[in-house]
Amino acid sequence: RGDADEPVIPFAQPGSLTRVFCVASGKGGVGKSSVTVNLAAAMARRGMKVGVVDADIYGHSVPRMIGAADRPTKIENMIMPPQSHGVKVISIGMFTDGNTPVVWRGPMLHRALQQFLADVFWGDLDVLLLDLPPGTGDVAISTAQLVPNAELLVVTTPQQAAAEVAERAGSISTQTRQRLAGVVENMSWMEMPDGSRNEIFGSGGGQIVADSLSRTVGTTVPLLGQIPLDVALREGGDAGTPIVLGKPESAAAQALDAIAEKL
Ligand code: ADP
Repeated sequence: RGDADEPVIPFAQPGSLTRVFCVASGKGGVGKSSVTVNLAAAMARRGMKVGVVDADIYGHSVPRMIGAADRPTKIENMIMPPQSHGVKVISIGMFTDGNTPVVWRGPMLHRALQQFLADVFWGDLDVLLLDLPPGTGDVAISTAQLVPNAELLVVTTPQQAAAEVAERAGSISTQTRQRLAGVVENMSWMEMPDGSRNEIFGSGGGQIVADSLSRTVGTTVPLLGQIPLDVALREGGDAGTPIVLGKPESAAAQALDAIAEKL
């Protein structure tokens, strides 16, 4: 922009080698943060340098899910992000007081995000994942402005109603001109003791979103994978050890790992 006061965001510079993914969903509770931390951990395990920005002001559950409990420190003018399982993490929750709800308005959020991208010492990252708040709000627009080359990853459940709102979250890419990296369907089924699949939240949502977004943008938006329900996924999130590390043999971990591989 040429504005001397505008902080420089390394990821947005031409020639930046960092791939930036915005993880979006239509509504809360579909597993967006769980998918974000597991993809991050899976990529870090492959030897990639990975960072996560928790921009979900309402949830800000990323630090707990990945076990990054420390507060960021400051060295000179840079914020040093805590690290866990080889992933650097910064969260809006690290700058609030305990459990105080965040009631920031758009411009403040934009500045916070700008700081997370410009003033955090990320080093040379291969991948930066941004966990966006659900919906199509200010933060999604802000990230698109701050990092126009960021790609969008849409998380949905198989349920029709969830798919419809996820479509809306994805179609924001036509406004922001971001590339749509693909769709992830979470909570796709529960494996029963007899090996059968119980589709608790219905079926087809991920494919519906992928097809509909493909029509909207005029190129193929892939359904990158389907992640089953697994108690161990929730437990791993609560304990700060993502399932891709804690129970890599599980179907859920393997589905997540395969998605990380495709990106
Ligand atoms: P969001 O970020 O979309 O609000 P979360 O990732 O916080 O969703 O997930 C909501 C809750 O559901 C969390 O307690 C999480 O552990 C749990 N969860 C998410 N995906 C799964 C899954 N595939 N199997 C079991 N529990 C899951």
